[in-house]
Amino acid sequence: NAVITMQSLSRYYEMGDQIVKALDNVSLEFLKNDYAAIMGPSGSGKSTLMNIIGCLDTPTSGTYDLNGQNVADMDDDELARIRNREIGFVFQTFNLLPRLNCLQNVELPLIYAGIDPSERRERAESALTRVGLADRITHRPTELSGGQIQRVAIARALINKPSIILADEPTGNLDTATSHDIMEIFGELSRAGNTIILITHEEDIAHCTSRIIRLRDGKIESDERR
Ligand code: ADP
Ligand code: ADP
Repeated sequence: NAVITMQSLSRYYEMGDQIVKALDNVSLEFLKNDYAAIMGPSGSGKSTLMNIIGCLDTPTSGTYDLNGQNVADMDDDELARIRNREIGFVFQTFNLLPRLNCLQNVELPLIYAGIDPSERRERAESALTRVGLADRITHRPTELSGGQIQRVAIARALINKPSIILADEPTGNLDTATSHDIMEIFGELSRAGNTIILITHEEDIAHCTSRIIRLRDGKIESDERR
């Protein structure tokens, strides 16, 4: 039951008369319950891969199948539609709006989607409950710890019931104990059926996942499940 299948996927950038092979003939599969860390030195292609998985960018060549849909050939409108339906994003810098409380931050994607207020509130409360923040819904981000803020961001990423959660250095601004709490939440979400894929530079964080994919020079250097 592959959620993502990429075959012979490449992404080249033209820089003057140079061609940069940010991803070079990559083939990868992600399964429904995968909990995967993408590692690799700076410039190895991690962001390029995440942008393609997240339907923010398309490959130069190769195929990308996401839940049975061929993403590689989609135009921007189709990409936006599939992104909103299938993908939740979590960032190192949290990206919450400071003037809104937790509930309002989490509801935001549903406002854009035109969902009515009572359903918005119900779904936002349920997402905040899943990340253990049921008692903080009226707090603003400034009144929360870093770990709590990241949990709000994870709740926001969950609100459209995406099949895939993508996280770019989600623990980069957190201390060790808090980082492990966040990784535990991702682990629970993967067991509940989400595909979790994150970028990290930290070995101990990568070892909280069940699969480590190492990139080098746009190629897969290793891909190990535990
Ligand atoms: P990482 O996330 O592992 O640091 P990236 O995916 O950002 O790696 O970059 C992979 C390679 O592609 C690097 O050589 C980088 O300079 C190049 N690259 C990334 N984005 C662009 C871009 N928009 N234009 C040109 N080159 C790019
Ligand atoms: P890096 O290769 O160092 O991770 P990126 O260009 O991927 O650099 O990201 C730079 C910053 O912007 C990161 O903090 C990342 O979380 C954030 N970011 C990247 N893509 C998006 C996006 N689509 N929306 C909001 N923030 C983003």
